[in-house]
Amino acid sequence: MSKELNALEVAQRQLDLAASYLKLDPRIHSILKEPKRVLEVAIPVRMDDGSIKVFKGYRSQHCDAAGPTKGGIRFHQDVTIEEVKALSIWMTFKCGVVGLPYGGGKGGVICNPQELSTDELERLSRGYIRAIAQFVGADKDIPAPDVNTNPQIIAWMSDEYNAIKGHNEPGMITGKPVSIGGSLGRTAATGRGVAIATREAACKIGLEMKNAKVVVQGYGNVGSYAAKNLAAMGCSVVAVSDVNGGIANPAGINLADLDAHVKATGSVVNFPGSSAVSNAELLETSCDILVPCALENQITVDNADKIHCKIVAEGANGPTTPEADKILKSRGILLIPDILANAGGVTVSYFEWVQNLSNFYWTEREVNERLEEMMVRAFEEVWAMYQAHSVDMRLAAYMVSIHRIAEAAKIKGWVP
Ligand code: GLU
Repeated sequence: MSKELNALEVAQRQLDLAASYLKLDPRIHSILKEPKRVLEVAIPVRMDDGSIKVFKGYRSQHCDAAGPTKGGIRFHQDVTIEEVKALSIWMTFKCGVVGLPYGGGKGGVICNPQELSTDELERLSRGYIRAIAQFVGADKDIPAPDVNTNPQIIAWMSDEYNAIKGHNEPGMITGKPVSIGGSLGRTAATGRGVAIATREAACKIGLEMKNAKVVVQGYGNVGSYAAKNLAAMGCSVVAVSDVNGGIANPAGINLADLDAHVKATGSVVNFPGSSAVSNAELLETSCDILVPCALENQITVDNADKIHCKIVAEGANGPTTPEADKILKSRGILLIPDILANAGGVTVSYFEWVQNLSNFYWTEREVNERLEEMMVRAFEEVWAMYQAHSVDMRLAAYMVSIHRIAEAAKIKGWVP
C-alpha cells in the first residue's frame, strides 16, 4: 500500500502533469495551483433538543479567470478543507473543458445529514448560506448541489439568500426545484451526461452499447441517472451499490423495480433477485463499463490491477488516483475523466443560470438537446487532443481546459 495522497495533492499533481506536458507558463501554473479565496465558517444550529451545535463549513473559490466561480455544496462527515479546495480546482477545469463562462468553486459542511432531522437540516442549510452570503451571488460565485444536497436544500438556501438581500435572485444558486426557477432536466443532467460521454467513448473503441455490462458504484443522484440512461441505450446494469452495500445480478438489474425498492427501503441492499457484494467486489466485477459515482480515491494503486472493464466513466469527482491512472492506461482501459464525464451537471446548471438571468424558460427537450450537443462537442475536443498527443484522456481534458483558462488569464493581464 502506498501513502494515499489527499484530494488536494491529487488535483495539484494532475495539474502539474498537464502543465509540464503543455509547457504551461509557470506564472499561470502557480496561479492555478491554489484557490484564490477560501472561507471557513462556523455555523451554530439549534438542534431539536434545544442544544446548540456548531458545524464547520467552507467555500473555496479557485479561479475566476473565465467568469464567476461555480460549484456545488457537499454535506458529509468526511469533508475537509483540502477536499473542498481540490473539488473547486476540479470545477475550474470541468467548466474549462466544456467552455462554460465560469471558474471553479466548491463548498462543504462537515456533518452527517443522516443524523439530522429535516428541521435541523433546514436550519443548517440556512445557517450555511447566512455565513457565506457576502461571498456568493449570481455574478460572483454560484453554488449548486453536490454529495448529500438536493433541490429541497437548495430551495432553503435560495430562500434564505433572497431574504438577506431583500430581493429575488434565483441565479445565485442552481439545482433549484423547477417551481422556484430551477431548470427542467437539471436533476438528471449529471447522469445523463455520464451516459452520453460513455456512449461516445464506446463508439470510438468499437464497443457495442447493446448488452454492454455496466457496474455503477454509488446509486445516488449521479449513479442512478447514469444507470438509467445507459440502460436506455441498451446496456445491461449488472451491479450497483450505495453507502449501505452493493448488489449484483449477472442477468441484469431491472432499474424500475430497483427504484421502487430504494424508495421503499432507502437502499439498494436486499433487492430481491440479487446477491450481496462488497464495495471491493463491486469494483472488481468483470464488466464492460465501470461507472464510479461515489467519492474520491476509490480506484487506487491497491485495486487498479483488479479492475476488469473496457471503459471507466468517472461520474464522481476524483475517484481515481494518479498512480491508478497509470495502471489503467497500461492495461488498455479507457478512462473518461471526471472533468469531462460528469460535466453534464454543471452544464445544465449553466442553462439554469442563463434561464434565470433572462427570465425565459426552456422545455426539457431544449435542455436535453443542448446538453447532448455540448457533451458531444467537449468529448470530441478531448478525443482529438488524446489522439494527437498520445496522452491519457485525463491529461487530454486538462490540456483542452488549461488552454482556455490560460488564455482568459493572459488577456485579463494577470500575467504580462
Ligand atoms: N456538484 C456538481 C459537480 O461536481 C455540479 C456543480 C454545479 O452544478 O455547479 O459538478
